[in-house]
Amino acid sequence: MVVFSYLSNKLYGYAGKIAESAFFIHLAGKIRRFYLVQFRKNYVEAQLKRREGECRQCARCCSLAFRCPLLTRENLCLTYMKGRPDVCKLFPIDRRDMNDVAISGGECGYCFKQGNYSGSK
Ligand code: SF4
Repeated sequence: MVVFSYLSNKLYGYAGKIAESAFFIHLAGKIRRFYLVQFRKNYVEAQLKRREGECRQCARCCSLAFRCPLLTRENLCLTYMKGRPDVCKLFPIDRRDMNDVAISGGECGYCFKQGNYSGSK
């Protein structure tokens, strides 16, 4: 029983560290955005109507979890005008995406009017 308790504490400890890791937070964000863009189109559409501001072209969203291989040294997207994926075009979808940028030390140029991602519409 003591061994089980020790092991479960260790596991929870590792799980906590993983959950706090910026890499895993950003990776989870990529998966979340992919899911939303593919399967929650109504939600994404509603969020875009709430979105204000403009892109500052800081390219922070292109380097969450890992730097996009299509980003040049000057932080320009090689596919910007030709076939850029929807997950890139639609960033940020909600405040969670802006939080992901903040975790990496950036500040996205967009903001959302009240009532964003807590709803599931
Ligand atoms: S993080 Fe926001 S402001 Fe910066 S490039 Fe991405 S969308 Fe634009």
